Amino acid sequence: MKIELITIGDELLLGFVVDTNAVHLARVLAGVGVEVVRRSTVPDEAEAIAASVREALDRTGGVVTTGGLGPTSDDMTKPAIAALFGRQLQLNEGIVALIEERFRSFGFTGPMPPGNRQQAMIPDGAVIIPNAHGTAPGIWIEDDRGRWVAMLPGVPREMRGMLADELLPMLRQREQDVPTVVLSRTLRTTGIGESALADLLGDDATGFPDLPLAYNPGWQGTELRLTARGMSLPQARKHLDDGIAKLYSRVERYVYAEETTDLAEVVLRLARARGARIATAESCTGGLLGARLTAIPGASDVYTGGIVAYDDAVKLRIIGVDPEVLRSEGAVSEAIALEMARRIAKQMQCDVGIGITGIAGPGGATPGKPVGTVWIAVQVQDKSRTHGRVFIGDREEIRLRATQAALDMTRHMLA
Ligand code: ATP
Ligand code: MG
Repeated sequence: MKIELITIGDELLLGFVVDTNAVHLARVLAGVGVEVVRRSTVPDEAEAIAASVREALDRTGGVVTTGGLGPTSDDMTKPAIAALFGRQLQLNEGIVALIEERFRSFGFTGPMPPGNRQQAMIPDGAVIIPNAHGTAPGIWIEDDRGRWVAMLPGVPREMRGMLADELLPMLRQREQDVPTVVLSRTLRTTGIGESALADLLGDDATGFPDLPLAYNPGWQGTELRLTARGMSLPQARKHLDDGIAKLYSRVERYVYAEETTDLAEVVLRLARARGARIATAESCTGGLLGARLTAIPGASDVYTGGIVAYDDAVKLRIIGVDPEVLRSEGAVSEAIALEMARRIAKQMQCDVGIGITGIAGPGGATPGKPVGTVWIAVQVQDKSRTHGRVFIGDREEIRLRATQAALDMTRHMLA
């Protein structure tokens, strides 16, 4: 936690009093992990106090002040800071009673001096920091963004006692309860470009108040990331839940996971839920799809295995694609992808077969089949789907994008 210290008093600026409060506070606070990042001293003037507190809140969001809580007319701290927070001061009868009792305990009879009623004026919504060592209570005031000021008296003995007895426990509790956080949530989409996603999101394309939306494109697809800053953990969670739900409702079809979950894991989970097993036949991806599936722990109950059918001879002899189809359509074709998917599923006695064939480049393009041309087929029991497209990117990206597209087709068919 980072905070600023503001010590208040003309006597400090004039050099009549050494600012021992600031030294003591900085040391003790550092001991509990609260870092004082700036110290200032201001005169007993409402405007100077308000200005320095406002600036400190803008920078740091947490301020401890000492001084100016007393009963005399030069004690301006409370009204100045209450006004800054837009709060009225109210007489607190409980504090009046405490002060009266304290006076009586000193053998003081008569009515309480009017100045001491001043000490019982508390800003609306503020928390009283009890003062067991003097008459002026301290004040904790906080706005709805969680920015706060703790006001302690100037008298060093009182300040030290209240710091140890009250403020340190409050700060410790606060660190546990409402640390301000930077929290993100990510939706992983695939099968749609960044700008098409933004179009689909419409009004929500830039995010929500206090929750900007970032687009992070890559071969896996585009991640949509909402980030909450400068609020408490519960607030951030709530905001993110709402924001993510809104985004999800707009682009649901393209979302395969949250955070860092790989699409291969999603596909394995869907297959497992249906009791289905998967086999793969890969040409241009050279086993990348199998590698992605087997990278997920526990894949073995779903993924049986695959064949890297890179050379046509392997497509023919091991996978058993129809030589007529291979001759007429070529190895990079819808028909061959389908043959690969069907035959691998049959050979490995699986419900799901996935076939991939394509031209990863940089060489190998033929008329009508540019680099990046990939045909993918997925067979699920007696249903099949095929998908042909030209992926962009270098050799590595084309291969990775092809495995992602194959997994996404499988996801849709198993869902
Ligand atoms: P009180 O209720 O006693 O009037 P207060 O909050 O109004 O307390 P001040 O009037 O500002 O405090 O100061 C009270 C005494 O504490 C003075 O003797 C002053 O010199 C001393 N004091 C105030 N601020 C500091 C400081 N930062 N370091 C050391 N001593 C201080
Ligand atoms: Mg003073």
